[in-house]
Order: sequence, then structure tokens, then C-alpha cells
Amino acid sequence: MAQWIDGAALAKQIEAEVAAEVQKVQAAGVNPGLAVVLVGEHPASQVYTRGKVKTCQSLGMYSERIEMPESATTDEVLFAVDSLNQRSDIHGILVQVPLPPQVVARDVLQAILPEKDVDGFHPVNVGRLAAGNAVLKPCTPAGIMEIFKRHRIPVRGQRAVVIGRSDIVGKPVSLLLLHEDATVTICHSKTRELPSVAREADILIAAIGRPALVDDTYVKDGAVVIDVGVNRLEPLDKIRELFGEDPQRLADHARKGYTLVGDVHPRVHEKASYMTPVPGGVGPLTVAMLMANTVRAAAAQARISVFA
Ligand code: NAP
Repeated sequence: MAQWIDGAALAKQIEAEVAAEVQKVQAAGVNPGLAVVLVGEHPASQVYTRGKVKTCQSLGMYSERIEMPESATTDEVLFAVDSLNQRSDIHGILVQVPLPPQVVARDVLQAILPEKDVDGFHPVNVGRLAAGNAVLKPCTPAGIMEIFKRHRIPVRGQRAVVIGRSDIVGKPVSLLLLHEDATVTICHSKTRELPSVAREADILIAAIGRPALVDDTYVKDGAVVIDVGVNRLEPLDKIRELFGEDPQRLADHARKGYTLVGDVHPRVHEKASYMTPVPGGVGPLTVAMLMANTVRAAAAQARISVFA
């Protein structure tokens, strides 16, 4: 039976450390500032961006949300990013994805100054990550590495299998694992015999976006299983199939019409040694690492050294 990893508790720990770093940076005369750009009215993005701004403020940093209409053009978003690039009180810029289809996401993400790119998506930061000298690492992968560090889960020499090869999660977490001396296999939708490849993993990371795809046939006894997926599951019969009569899940469905499930089947809990829940696993760590990146970006831009 796996030990659940409490992502919210780890995030609180990291945020307390970030708050202390904020004070050091402020003592050196700089107030770290984060700008979150939201284009359109995507409901989940509204919730995420509000949460990011609120957490930033709760740690004593400055934060603002720039809201742009669903109809905004690429040029209009580029103009907003450029203005933020030029502001000395803004050290981190995050443009919430997904962007409306008429906005060219790649152009927008590349327009953010690399030193203000707290999501770590700019090609310069991707290159630094690949070279193993990243300052601003993508938040979700960096949060996953904090789980290993803070739970003293060994990575060196371990066989890690990452399912998913996105630029946001799969590829960067594979690089971070590699830099920590894991032997890494990256899988995707064209991988043959996925369950048997996955069963080789000491550390299995699922970043797919398919509810409960990874069942116990994908997992070897004692594996560490990190579930990155966040999927809305609506049909009540499917919810019951996964969670039985779990009152929290049924209450979710009654209140919102869905419950959030990961890419990993709940049955895997019986086989794994550690497992992250959804919700409450990787998600809170993503926000905590964004906070860490913002204070780091501010310190680097002001050439303040506060990190041991
Ligand atoms: P993505 O860009 O859609 O990438 C999904 C990856 O999964 C792709 O590489 C795809 O393969 C692979 N895949 C899809 N179906 C598969 C299958 N049946 N078997 C094997 N591989 C399959 O998604 P993402 O942005 O990485 O996000 C993945 C999940 O993590 C989503 O549920 C997302 O909501 C969640 N997420 C959570 C957080 C957090 O903070 N908790 C942060 C980011 C993302 P191909 O490349 O071959 O298409």
C-alpha cells in the first residue's frame, strides 16, 4: 500500500521558504513582482490565475493580473508582454495557456524576456535546462523533483519512465531526472507495449491527460508513482467505477457535475510505494515553484545573492 504524498503540505513548506527569500530580497531594496496575463475567459484559467496572484501576495510579493478579451490579437498580446518586459517592478511574466486559437502562442512565449520567463518555456531557458544549468525551471517538473528531494526518494541510478513528451511536463521532467542520474525512458502515444515498458520503472511519471489510463498492469510492486494528470470526469458510473461510494467524489459530482481525476487508476495505490493524489499532489507544487521562480528572477535581475 503506497504512502500518499501530500503536495499541499510540501507546497506550504516551500512557500514558507520563499517568503523568507522574499524578505531578504526586499531587505536589499527590491520587491519581487509577478504579472499574470490572462487572455479570454477560460474558466479553469480564471481560477488558476487568481490562485497564482493570491499566493504571490500572501508571500509578500507584488502581483497583478492583466486581463485581455477573448478576441485579442497576437499583436495586442505581444504589446502587453513588451510593456511588462520594460517595467522594472515586474520580474516575472506568465502568460496563461491555453491562448485563444487566433493568438500565436509560440510568438507570445518567445517575446517574454528569458530572465522574466518564470514558466521556463522560452527557448533560452529550454536550452539552459537541456545543458543542466537552468535558473528558471518549468514549474511542474521542478515541483516533481522537490517531491523526490523532500521525501528522500532516491533518483540516482533509478529507472524512470515518463509517459508524455509535452514541452510543459514530459520533456523537461525527463531532463531533470537525467541530470539527477536516473536512467530515463520517455513514452508517448506511439510507444509499443506501453504497460510492459512502464513496469520497468522504479519511478513512473504519468503526464498524459487520460483519466485513470495507468492501471495496475503498468506498475511494478514498490514503484514510486507521480500522477501529473488533471482530468474532469463527469459520468457518474465512471466515477463510481473508479472510487466506489467515496463520499467526497460523489459530493464533487453533485456540486460541480464532475470530479478531478489523474492519469493513474486508484487501484495502483495498492502496488506503489509512494503515490501522489489528484487533486492535492503535483498541482499545489506547481504554484509553489512559480513563487520560487519569481523571487529567484527578482534576485537575479537585481544581482542580489540570497540563495545559499
Ligand atoms: P499534452 O501536451 O496533451 O501531452 C500529453 C502527452 O501524453 C503527449 O506526449 C501524448 O503523446 C501522450 N499521450 C496521449 N495519449 C497517450 C496514450 N494513450 N498513451 C501514451 N501516451 C499518450 O499534455 P500536458 O500538457 O503534458 O499535460 C498532461 C496532463 O498533465 C494533463 O492532464 C494536464 O492537465 C496535466 N497537467 C497538470 C499540471 C499540474 O500542475 N498538476 C501541470 C501541467 C499539466 P504524443 O506526443 O504522441 O501525442
